[in-house]
Amino acid sequence: MTRPHTHLLEVDIGIRRQEGGPQEELLVMPVWTPGSYLVREFARHVQDFAARDATGQALKWEKTNKNTWRVVTNGSRDWHASYRVYANELTVRTSELNSSHAFWNNANILMYLEGQLASPSTVRVLAPDVWKVATGLPAVLGQKNTFRAENFDVLYDAPFEVSNFKTIVFNVKGVAHRIVIDGEGNYDTERMRRDVQKIVEEHVEFMGGEIPYRDYTFILHARANAGGGLEHANSTALGYPRFGFRIASGDRSTSASPAATGAPARDYRGFLSLVSHEFFHLWNVKRIRPDGLGPFDYTQESYTKVLWVAEGITDYYADLLLRRAGLITESEFLTATARSIQSLQNTPGRRVQSVEESSFDTWIKFYRQDENSVNSQVSYYDKGAILGLLLDLEIRKRTSGAKSLDDVLRYLYTEFGKKNRNYGPADFQRACEMMAGSSLEDFFQRFVRGTEELEYDVALEAVGLRLDTNAGGASVERVYFGADVAQEEDRLMVRRVYAGSPAYDHGLNAGDQIVALDNMRVTRDFFNARIAEKKPGDRIALIIFRFDDLSTLLITLGGRRVGTYRIVPLPNATDAQKRVYRQWLGD
Ligand SMILES: [Zn+2]
Repeated sequence: MTRPHTHLLEVDIGIRRQEGGPQEELLVMPVWTPGSYLVREFARHVQDFAARDATGQALKWEKTNKNTWRVVTNGSRDWHASYRVYANELTVRTSELNSSHAFWNNANILMYLEGQLASPSTVRVLAPDVWKVATGLPAVLGQKNTFRAENFDVLYDAPFEVSNFKTIVFNVKGVAHRIVIDGEGNYDTERMRRDVQKIVEEHVEFMGGEIPYRDYTFILHARANAGGGLEHANSTALGYPRFGFRIASGDRSTSASPAATGAPARDYRGFLSLVSHEFFHLWNVKRIRPDGLGPFDYTQESYTKVLWVAEGITDYYADLLLRRAGLITESEFLTATARSIQSLQNTPGRRVQSVEESSFDTWIKFYRQDENSVNSQVSYYDKGAILGLLLDLEIRKRTSGAKSLDDVLRYLYTEFGKKNRNYGPADFQRACEMMAGSSLEDFFQRFVRGTEELEYDVALEAVGLRLDTNAGGASVERVYFGADVAQEEDRLMVRRVYAGSPAYDHGLNAGDQIVALDNMRVTRDFFNARIAEKKPGDRIALIIFRFDDLSTLLITLGGRRVGTYRIVPLPNATDAQKRVYRQWLGD
């Protein structure tokens, strides 16, 4: 990184064979990076490729497809390739080099030698002296900023942060953990240390008490609009809004806007939830590996039907373990659960796509959302988490609290993770049935492979709870329009239209510009306020631009009796139900 402001990372790859190599060798750039299921074509950022032998003599080369370079090595045992990679996109799955720091994922910038993914490698980072280097790879003793990877799956699993970062350290059971923070923000490092340590301790105990890594690194980028996380075997990359660490007081459900929009809360608890999610992945997905997800094929999509387990059930435990660690209250856990159930029930796509289909097609659907996604897709995160809850409660009910989904996860870790075997959909179902002590075929057929409406009360009854969909005065029918609108400068645009809604059935389209409502010019606030004053059955006239053409659309508004969902106690819950409740959300 000799000229950070150019965003060009300079890569030199030295290939050394024990004996003479073939006449030609292929260097391959990955097209995707594990954990983020989209072909991102990292080769598009490669430039200035060259190859030379040990004496510095240039070697001939040509590209054979979009991400493969064929080098004529003439049987050389020792040769080099060099190139530069443009890195100017900071997300947890991409790379950025600029004058303030460098962050990269190795699959974005390092090619592998065809047929040699199992070979070991070392990485030496030549960084400006004022910058430190953090990665999950083990350091090579006695060599500055040099790290080793036993194979390319390990190499590609370890992102690097190189900057003048802050470091927070703590130990759990004698194992070193560090949080590396790049970027200023309103975080409290002491509190972060304490709470992240609690998360680590809770997860480790949950998974049986053994720590399966030598050390663990959390890389955190605090930026104005950062978000998301990516899991690795002994590290994680996290992005979070730099002023999103506010410690909110009281129940999150009462803070209006996030609950109202269904958006995840951007406060300190949201950060802990992200940490909990990514950390849980070190077992669920990195060691308890679905079919197809390791060893990896970096040249094309890797399909699996169980991302709903890998992501959804991870999401379920992210919050459940925060609750058990005492970092959120029971009420916060139940409120968040009710909110995600409501969000699922407001997604028409839940009746169109199953979670298995959603998992399988993530490459072309979940990771490529458009205005129709809400009507054609279900999130394997959101529905997967709810299925985790329903399965957990079903197993607890059938066994009077003796077994749970916790046992399923521990079983999968023992039988698949520790034995280095991948699992498939049938293995997961079998593990659940083993813990439940009876068949769950009906459940999986209807709710996992199928798109039937979930039966919340059947599950919640196990712990003496029920779902109240009418909280907050839903006995009154509310007016229903059925589209999301957004203000774009001085234009009011339709973002999405929900299938089956009045707006949908009367022909409003995503992308339409609403010019006037009942002949009056609109802004978003004006539009939403006027609609809220209407009654079901009222007719409105919208003047819209569709592309360049002006037209008038008449829409008869509908009505809905929907309040805020709440999970509430059954009036006469039995002692047995209360006992299972305590075991589940336990202190
Ligand atoms: Zn995840």
